[in-house]
Amino acid sequence: MMRKVAVLGATGSIGASALDVIARHPDSVRASVLAAGTRVDALLALCRTHRPEHAVIADPRLYACLRDGLRDAGLATEAHAGDAAIAALAAGAACDIVVAAIVGAVGLSSTLAAARAGKRLLLANKESLVLAGELLMRTAEAAGATIVPIDSEHNAVFQCLGDGTSTPTRITLTASGGPFRGWTRDALAKVTPAQAVAHPKWSMGPKISVDSATLMNKGLEVIEAHHLFRIPGAAIRVLVHPQSLVHAMVDFADGSTLAQLGLPDMRTALAVGLGWPQRISSGVSALDLLSQGGRLDFEQPDLDAFPCLRLATTALAAGGTAPAVLNAANEEAVSAFLQGDIGFLDIPDTISAVLDALPPARANTLDPLLDADRAARSIARSRIHARRRA
Ligand code: NAD
Ligand code: MG
Repeated sequence: MMRKVAVLGATGSIGASALDVIARHPDSVRASVLAAGTRVDALLALCRTHRPEHAVIADPRLYACLRDGLRDAGLATEAHAGDAAIAALAAGAACDIVVAAIVGAVGLSSTLAAARAGKRLLLANKESLVLAGELLMRTAEAAGATIVPIDSEHNAVFQCLGDGTSTPTRITLTASGGPFRGWTRDALAKVTPAQAVAHPKWSMGPKISVDSATLMNKGLEVIEAHHLFRIPGAAIRVLVHPQSLVHAMVDFADGSTLAQLGLPDMRTALAVGLGWPQRISSGVSALDLLSQGGRLDFEQPDLDAFPCLRLATTALAAGGTAPAVLNAANEEAVSAFLQGDIGFLDIPDTISAVLDALPPARANTLDPLLDADRAARSIARSRIHARRRA
C-alpha cells in the first residue's frame, strides 16, 4: 500500500533525513506535502526532486514567490502559506503519515492537528511535547493516532518496549555530553555560537545543537520521555555516553535491561517510523563496534557546569505551566545567544530568572499553556534586552 507523507520542516536537518529515507522506498511511501518556514528556494528545490501534491511556506509574505516558482518549474504542486494551512494539510486527506519536524513551540498547532486527525505521527518536534505533553498524548490516544518518537533516545526506548505489554521500571537516556563535555564554567563563559553548534557526534539544526551544548536538550528529553512513556521523572536517568552508540536503555522488573545501539544517524529512527511495524532500509550501515573503537563509556552529567538539565527536571517536578515556561525562555535565550546578544552562561541564567518570575500554575487545557509561553517570552526578551544594553 502506498502511504502519503507530510514532511513539516522539510528544509531542516530531520526533513532532509526523512526525505532521504522516503526516496529509498518509492513503492511504499511518497512525500505528498512539504512545509517550511521561510526558505522558499530550498523548498522549491525539494519540490522539483520529490514532486509533492502540496507545498506550504509558513511566512505568508512568501506565498507569491512559492506559487510563481512552482509554476516556472512546471510543477503541478499546489502552493499554500501560513501556519493554518500547514495544520490543515497535516490533518487532511493529503497524507497518512506526518513527520513533525518544525523546530520550536510554533510546531505545536500542526503536531496537535495531526494527532487529532489520528495520523501516524513521527514526532521530532520535542518542544510541543514539553509545552503541552499531556494534552498531546491525550489527543493522540483519543483519536487513535500512533506516535513514533523521532528523537534517537526515545525512538530507542520505543524499539526496546516492543509491543508495549511490559512496563519499564526505569529509562536511561544517553547524552553525548555535547562539544563542551568536561569544560569548567569559566571556560564556558567565553564560548561562541560557532563553537556551540559544532556538535561532535550529530549533525543537526542550530537550535537543538545549542540545546545539546547546554544539556537543555537532555532536559527537554526527560520531559519528553515522561509524556511519551507515561513514566515518572524520578524513573528517568541521564548518563553521558561520549561514543553516542547506545541511544537508550530500558530496565524491567525481572532484572533485564534492553538497549538499542546504532550509528548516530537519524535516518534509522525515521525508517522505524516510516516502516513500522516492519523494518525497512534507511541507508545507515550496521554498527561495527570494533571499528568504532571497541568501547562504550558512561559517566554522570556535570549539573554544576550545565545547570539547564537540572532546571528542566525541576520544572517537570513542579508541573503545570513550568515546562511551558522553561521551553519558551529557552527558545528566546538560545535565539539571542545565536545572534550574539548574550553569552552562553546567560542561557541558564535567563531561564532560571523567568522560571522564578512565573510560578507554576495548573494547566489542563491549551490556553493557560499558551499564556504561560507568551508571558515567559516577554519576560525573557526584556531581560535579554536589558543585558544587551548593560
Ligand atoms: P532545523 O533548524 O534543521 O530545521 C527546522 C525546520 O523547521 C526547517 O525546515 C524550517 O523551515 C522549519 N520551520 C522553522 N520555523 C517554522 C515555522 N514558523 N513554521 C513552519 N516551519 C518552520 O531543525 P532540526 O534539527 O531538523 O530539528 C527539527 C526538530 O526536530 C526540533 O524540534 C528538534 O529538537 C528535533 N530533533 C532534531 C534532531 C536532529 O538530529 N536534527 C534530533 C532529535 C530531535
Ligand atoms: Mg535526542
